[in-house]
Amino acid sequence: MKCAQGEKFSDGKLQRFGNIELSPSAGILNYGQGLFEGLKAYKTEDGNILMFRPEENGERLSLGAERMCMPSPSVEQFVKAVKETVLANERWIPPPGKGSLYIRPLLMGSGSVLGLAPAPEYTFLIYVSPVGNYYKEGLSPINLIIETEMHRATPGGTGGVKTIGNYAAVLKAQSAAKAKGYSDVLYLDSIEKKYLEEVSSCNVFVVKGNVISTPAIKGTILPGITRKSIIDVAHSLGFQAEERRVTVDELLNADEVFVTGTAVVLSPVGSITYFGKRVSYGSSGVGVVTQQLYSALTRLQMGLEEDNMNWTVKLK
Ligand code: PMP
Repeated sequence: MKCAQGEKFSDGKLQRFGNIELSPSAGILNYGQGLFEGLKAYKTEDGNILMFRPEENGERLSLGAERMCMPSPSVEQFVKAVKETVLANERWIPPPGKGSLYIRPLLMGSGSVLGLAPAPEYTFLIYVSPVGNYYKEGLSPINLIIETEMHRATPGGTGGVKTIGNYAAVLKAQSAAKAKGYSDVLYLDSIEKKYLEEVSSCNVFVVKGNVISTPAIKGTILPGITRKSIIDVAHSLGFQAEERRVTVDELLNADEVFVTGTAVVLSPVGSITYFGKRVSYGSSGVGVVTQQLYSALTRLQMGLEEDNMNWTVKLK
């Protein structure tokens, strides 16, 4: 789909995956005017295809587009385009329980712009790929390191929207962490450097007793759809779920820690390293609360449980 600045997107068409043509002076290449989304589609035992809250991704894209001075497809157009793309690629969806189809919608300033300004034309496209587990450990615990020098986002910046530059900003810390054997990096707030923000591509939760806490959304962390869903699932299972400022101290003294995101789903954290000191959680793998929340969410997402929340969308 294409559209000029100030106009509305009209519905697009399916085309074979391949390279696209862009001017060297395209807005996305020069000034990073790009936003993306990430969703998954699952095959069910009865031959259907399930998606999880796709309208939430459409809404997040629209909000992000506003921040990035871009037009965006309507939520209805977004969901329709995602469904059509998934159905056209049904043969690539792994069998039930063997993975999912990852869906990547991408909105960009494709028009040519030399001086710093929003691009005059925009392109919205969607591509897909079958995926297995994001972290090679699967549901076994991951090991994080707290980044104390570099920040993912600053107040007033673009940390709260899914713009491409946020991901370029984490590559250095993430690569260094991976080279040292960590699974990923946990970021702190850029002012006081004592409150948790999020991981490179997922949100973080801290469990203490019956209370599950996660950093509040305040513009520097991405409002994750899995995060929002886990808060509701936690409530429905009788936990107290809090969105607030969470300190490093609380993290280091937690009973369990886990991360959430479309790609990672819900992954337990086995250890956190902070200024060279390593704190481990639980001696025997996955914590009970983490396991309970993981089962509740994934059973719902894969259609193994009745969807009382009305979150899953059937494509057939
Ligand atoms: N934070 C960041 C920085 C992310 O890239 C993602 C993945 N979209 C998330 C959190 C989790 O968001 P969601 O649950 O919507 O996938």
